[in-house]
Amino acid sequence: MSADSPVTADVLLPLALEGPYTYAVPPGLSVAPGDYVEVPLGPRSFIGCVWKIGEGDGGGKTLRPIVQKFDLPPLSDTHRAFIDWVAQYYLEPLGNVLRLCLRAPGAFGEAKGDVAYRIGPNQPAKLTAQRARVLDIAREGLAMKASELAELAGVGTSVVKMLAKAGALEVVALPPHRAFPAPDPSAGKLALSEAQEEAARELRALVTRRAQGTLLLDGVTGSGKTEVYFEAMASALASGRQVLLLLPEIALTQQFIERVERRFGAAPATWHSGMRPRERERVWRGVADGGARIVVGARSALFLPWARLGLVVVDEEHESAYKQEDGVPYHARDMAIVYGALGKFPIVLASATPSLESLVNAERGRYTHVQLAVRHGAAELPPSHIIDMRQAAPQSGSWLSDPLANAVSETLAKGDQALLFLNRRGYAPLTLCRACGHRFDCPNCAASLVEHRFRKQLMCHHCGHTEAIPGQCPKCETPGKLVPCGPGVERLAEEVAQRFPEARLTILSSDLARGTLLKDAIREVTDGVHNLVIGTQLVAKGHHFPHLTLVGVVDADFALDSSDPRAGERSWAQMAQVAGRAGRGEKPGRALIQTYRPDHPLMRALAEGDRDGFLTEEKRLREGADLPPYGHLAAIVISGRDGHETERFARSLQPLAPYGEGVHVLGPAPAPLHLVRGLHRWRFLVRARRGINVQAYLKAWLGDIKPKGSLRLAIDVDPYNF
Ligand code: ADP
Ligand code: ZN
Repeated sequence: MSADSPVTADVLLPLALEGPYTYAVPPGLSVAPGDYVEVPLGPRSFIGCVWKIGEGDGGGKTLRPIVQKFDLPPLSDTHRAFIDWVAQYYLEPLGNVLRLCLRAPGAFGEAKGDVAYRIGPNQPAKLTAQRARVLDIAREGLAMKASELAELAGVGTSVVKMLAKAGALEVVALPPHRAFPAPDPSAGKLALSEAQEEAARELRALVTRRAQGTLLLDGVTGSGKTEVYFEAMASALASGRQVLLLLPEIALTQQFIERVERRFGAAPATWHSGMRPRERERVWRGVADGGARIVVGARSALFLPWARLGLVVVDEEHESAYKQEDGVPYHARDMAIVYGALGKFPIVLASATPSLESLVNAERGRYTHVQLAVRHGAAELPPSHIIDMRQAAPQSGSWLSDPLANAVSETLAKGDQALLFLNRRGYAPLTLCRACGHRFDCPNCAASLVEHRFRKQLMCHHCGHTEAIPGQCPKCETPGKLVPCGPGVERLAEEVAQRFPEARLTILSSDLARGTLLKDAIREVTDGVHNLVIGTQLVAKGHHFPHLTLVGVVDADFALDSSDPRAGERSWAQMAQVAGRAGRGEKPGRALIQTYRPDHPLMRALAEGDRDGFLTEEKRLREGADLPPYGHLAAIVISGRDGHETERFARSLQPLAPYGEGVHVLGPAPAPLHLVRGLHRWRFLVRARRGINVQAYLKAWLGDIKPKGSLRLAIDVDPYNF
């Protein structure tokens, strides 16, 4: 290339593209890898990231020039290497992974001369519903960008601009983003117990080494893990690095964020799915320029454009919520470890019920294993007792055995609080017609409709389809013959209200309380306003209810028979976690577990508090079947609008599967949920021994397959939620 020939740049766009496109760099513009630029593609323009300089030549075509470069800190080498890694591991187009990192379009938008809109003096001549929505939001007082106001109101930006023209909105200069307050590593440090201090020393050592390394902080519920990993965060902050604290979305509560704020004397940045665009932009920029020192976020926060990331803490590391199911199907815990390896910084995994994967990695010496075996302070771990429902089952239509009901009475009589755990939303999971046997199923999914009596609706938990509860069977038209089958929290509440009319009862379920309402409800339970709580998984973890001394698991067998290889492990974790809510205050607690299978190894292990026994058995089963963490698993899901066509396509792939030593292809078979949102689904499972390159196998098999029409082929490497 001669000195005066135009320099080129390969720019990756956040689209389903396997690699970057080459553009000309206009004279006078200097770009480097990691810079964000605007480039044309077809009739549109996109924001992309420079991947390489001067390598592509456009294959003889005239190159289109870069339009502009944004004045933002470049995406780091580590982050770009991370994107490459994620794309290769999950067999995802590179551009799709970049898209995960660019989730704050405002950061690029109207960069200079930004304006905001606030409520103006005039009424618009015609007040349409759309305009009214915009004005309602503007009346809340915050000046916002057109794009933000439009998004919140669910209208186009033209509606906002129109209102401004009419004087109903006023244009003001957009105030600069509030800076992030600097955390103080020692602001709210508690005096640690000896056990905590010993654990904290290991964590600090790991952080100060400034090298990659994963530490599993494995401590029983209430052992004070949070205070221990705060010490690791303090070390990373003290050395000038940024810290990411990942939580499952459901655990990202105000309560927890306030705790982080107390500890470090400054509100952390937060990152989750429900954020307003302008706050999103503020955090994105703060992460990119290093001003946001602590981010408490849900899984997608890992993909923020970190400037100086020095530690990731993954709390509740066993949670399946770390697995992203839509779009790029990544696992945030696993990818945090990859990021740490690329960026040479440590990862701390914390849990009271670590995943089998992490425990085996600790056993193999790949992770440092730090244990906290006792609860902090005087609190003791609650013992669990099994109630054999084969003997103690109540009459039909009732869900509480006598032993559990008696325990509730005793607890209430003592002035304590009891929690009944049932992981089923709604009133009843199934509705039948007693006259003709008709069952109410979802028209779009292979699932029955769940009765929600408070809302007077039948609802599908997979696609959200709802219909009113009819007075008679739609098939045989016999009135008054519809019967609910099985328990849901609303139905359990009905029984409980009858049995304990004096109790101050509340239900904590995502259908009945969200957002602020849920926050209030949780605070009321914490303060002891209610003494009897019925809850779904919403209450199973993280919360600290000081008055709670009894936990009753209403249906421990719920998830045991699922086809998911992790079903046992998940049930175990869920019950240990929910039982762990009891006795966290001054008074000792206990857990009662209703099961029809008291001899199941899991129930035995729970009753005896024998985690190792359970895990040994679970490991034996997984190892024998080459299942993770002893082997690899990948799922291939074929979906389509037409059932026959989908099946035919899935079956046509089977003979194309190459032979691979140590690789087992199972299927195709109808996926566990074989119809969702009107899409038929067939599935292959690929099982491979450790050390086999599953990605290479899958590429060899499916790399050239191009599904047609409505057919789709999705590969899920390390599938989690079956
Ligand atoms: P875990 O995360 O292991 O469930 P937490 O860190 O939430 O445990 O601690 C359980 C309870 O004990 C919390 O209420 C916490 O404030 C308290 N606690 C933990 N460590 C200390 C300490 N060193 N001094 C005082 N209180 C502590
Ligand atoms: Zn449905």
